[in-house]
Amino acid sequence: MSSGQSPAVDRQRTVRENVGLSGAGLHSGEPCEVIIRPADADAGIIFAINGEEIPANARSVTDTARGVSLGANGQRVMTVEHLLAALRGCGIDNARVELTGSEIPAVDGSSKPFVDAIVAAGTQIQDRPRKIYELREPVCVMSGGSYILAAPSDRLCVNYVMRYAHPMIGAQSFTFAFEQEAFQKDIAPARTFVLYEEVASLISQRLAQGGNLSNTIVVWQERLSCDLRYPDEFARHKVLDVVGDLALLGAALRADIVAVKSGHALNVELVRRLMELEG
Ligand SMILES: [Zn+2]
Repeated sequence: MSSGQSPAVDRQRTVRENVGLSGAGLHSGEPCEVIIRPADADAGIIFAINGEEIPANARSVTDTARGVSLGANGQRVMTVEHLLAALRGCGIDNARVELTGSEIPAVDGSSKPFVDAIVAAGTQIQDRPRKIYELREPVCVMSGGSYILAAPSDRLCVNYVMRYAHPMIGAQSFTFAFEQEAFQKDIAPARTFVLYEEVASLISQRLAQGGNLSNTIVVWQERLSCDLRYPDEFARHKVLDVVGDLALLGAALRADIVAVKSGHALNVELVRRLMELEG
C-alpha cells in the first residue's frame, strides 16, 4: 500500500471535532454540560472538571450505586457509563471530556444522543495501534446470585442474563457480538429503567433527582411509562451498561462475557481484577 500502513492494524481513534451535549444529570438533577474534545494518541478518555483531570479507569471509581462515579482530589463526575459506552461503541480510544456540573447529562436515558453527536462530528484515525486486552484464562467475579465471567476470545461478545421477579420484566437475555454498527443500532438506543417501588427510596437517598419520564422508563406492576424501543430493551440496556463499565479498562477488551444479574459494582470489580492481572 502506498501509505505503508497495514490495513490489518486496528488503530486508535479520537473525535474529529468537538462534540457538545447538555441537560440535567439523572441523579443530581443539576444542569450539566459536556464537551468531548479530540485528544492525542495514548491519552485514553480523560474527564476534566474544575481543573482536575480524572482518567476513565477502574482506579478512579468512587461509587457504583445506581451508576458509576469517578473522582480525584475532591472532584467527581457521576453517571459516566452511558457516555463511556457511546465512546467505546463509536471506536473512540482518546478524548478529553470537559464537564460543567458534576454529572454526565442523562439525555434520553440511553447512549443514542451521544452516539449521534459523535457520528455527526466524525472520528479521526491516529498513528498508533489500538490498545487491546486479551485474557489468558477465564476470570469470574461473583456476589450472591450474581456473577460476571470473562473468558478468552478474539473479539468482545457480551451475553447478559437478567431475572427480575417482576411481571413487566421477568427473565430476559441478550447476546451482543461487539461491532460498531451493531452497537449503534441494537444497543445504544436502549434506555435505563427503574421500578416504581424503588423511586421513593432513591429520592430519599438523594439519587434520581433529575429522573423523569423522558430519561427513564418507569416500570409499574402492570404497565410501563412508555412504549419500548425493543421488546427486550431492559436486557439490551444491561449490555450497554456492561460495555460502558468495561471501558474503564482503558483498552479494547477481547473476551466472551457472560453476565448474570450483574450490576455496576460487579462489572467494575471485574475490570479491577483484569487490571491487576495485567500488572
Ligand atoms: Zn445504564
